[in-house]
Amino acid sequence: MEAKKLKTIQLESFSLDHTRIKAPYLRLSKRVEVPGSEYEISTFDFRLRTPNTELLTPKVTHSLEHLFAVALRAEFEAHQQDLKVLDVSPMGCRTGFYLTVLNPVGALPLSRATEAVKAMLPGAMEIKELPGARLETCGAYKEHDFERAREEISHLASQEILPLEKPPLLV
Ligand SMILES: [Zn+2]
Repeated sequence: MEAKKLKTIQLESFSLDHTRIKAPYLRLSKRVEVPGSEYEISTFDFRLRTPNTELLTPKVTHSLEHLFAVALRAEFEAHQQDLKVLDVSPMGCRTGFYLTVLNPVGALPLSRATEAVKAMLPGAMEIKELPGARLETCGAYKEHDFERAREEISHLASQEILPLEKPPLLV
């Protein structure tokens, strides 16, 4: 691709002022309507660590990815039946995750998404064996830290996860 074209692409996350955000929080990162349907795709920034402080380790991030993949789907299937979790993916900076959901247009305000994420935590703490962490099912099955991931979830459950309605933006 030409350099000129690359320059014109504005990424939403690059306009967020990372020096003025404090974890844990949930923020609507983007929302796209699905053409020809009553649905939209919503992506939330689920931030566990304040940027450029103590990051999650790669192993804890990886184990949390496996835990959230199961716990969030279980919570949504049980209590948020009009919503469908499409993906929970770790941020490369190891401060959080992106949660992507398919929802009826207008049905998923940030407040509801935040409550759903909070409601998922007790279920995540109930998981006694890390899901999918076998040679056959994981690309780095030895690179996990299940115990510390569990501690992270327990710590998160003891904190207030705030819905970040007005994210600080770079001008
Ligand atoms: Zn894996």
